[in-house]
Amino acid sequence: MSILYDFAIIGAGAAGLSAAQYGARANLKTVVIEEMAPGGQALLIDNLENYPGILEPINGYDLAERMRAQAERFGSAFFDGSVSSVKKEAGRFLIETSGGTVESLTILIATGAKHRMLEIPGEEAYIGKGVSYCATCDGPFFKGKRMLVVGGGDAACDEATYLSKLSDKIVMIHRRDRFRAQKALGQRVLTNPSIEVRFNTVAKEIKGDSKVRSVLLENTQTHEQIEEFFDAVFIFIGSIPQTQFLQGTDIKLDETGYIVTDCGMRSSLPGLFAAGDVRTTPFRQIITAAADGAIAAHEAANYIDEQRGQAYR
Ligand code: NAP
Repeated sequence: MSILYDFAIIGAGAAGLSAAQYGARANLKTVVIEEMAPGGQALLIDNLENYPGILEPINGYDLAERMRAQAERFGSAFFDGSVSSVKKEAGRFLIETSGGTVESLTILIATGAKHRMLEIPGEEAYIGKGVSYCATCDGPFFKGKRMLVVGGGDAACDEATYLSKLSDKIVMIHRRDRFRAQKALGQRVLTNPSIEVRFNTVAKEIKGDSKVRSVLLENTQTHEQIEEFFDAVFIFIGSIPQTQFLQGTDIKLDETGYIVTDCGMRSSLPGLFAAGDVRTTPFRQIITAAADGAIAAHEAANYIDEQRGQAYR
């Protein structure tokens, strides 16, 4: 007979792992479903320095591993599988995964978001041959080389700063005349002697042979184009929420596809919660994802109590 969980969490990033810990500690029979290694976007962070209480910067992988071990220690189960659909029947959620069906009274979507592509000629063809979306993964291959960073948000600034430790030949382009990033991160880039920032500039084409050789850049104001030599192109232009498996449900999404929740992380479908980068939120950080996860677990426990007529409000 299959197990009926109280709280099934899809996604083992900061939101999912925090929810797993809070869920298990609230005595919910909790399972985390993840198709890859736990950690989500945190795995891409080399030096995490803005999490409260972290005096010495910590690697994102190490933090994720600690969060996973903590959730497991409190009794959360972990299940490997890729989720294809979710539906609610007779008050229970049925989650179809590559490893079988998981049944649960409540569900938390914590699947995060995946990197957006520029969609310019050459980008797809050179992925793994100089085009990358992860500086900590691929930066070390280009030590001392000429690298282009595309983007103007927190991620682009953080990653450019990381790459500047590997090479003093970093060019960063942003399509506007100032950064979208938090002031401190932008300022760090602007004062970094290894990074040359060019605003009002976009990449039009990535060229090469067996690997990236050059990028065609365009000034958005003068429309002047120039082809410049680069060994690598790192692209950080935002992300796309991972909600494909919700197709066919009527769960409310915003105009860009993020799940709409209230402050209790409740979606439009009772019993289904969303936390972290996959939901509509003004600030996407590890700390906000972890806080979302804690709130979602608390509200999932309340929801189950309500269904059983045992709510203490
Ligand atoms: P983001 O904040 O959405 O920024 C994306 C940047 O890419 C924007 O500057 C945007 O330009 C640009 N862009 C988007 N599409 C483009 C295109 N087709 N061509 C050229 N440029 C394009 O995304 P993010 O930097 O990945 O950050 C995502 C979330 O994670 C944010 O909430 C961020 O705060 C958080 N985060 C935080 C940290 C940190 O605190 N250390 C680190 C990483 C990420 P426009 O400005 O013109 O729209």
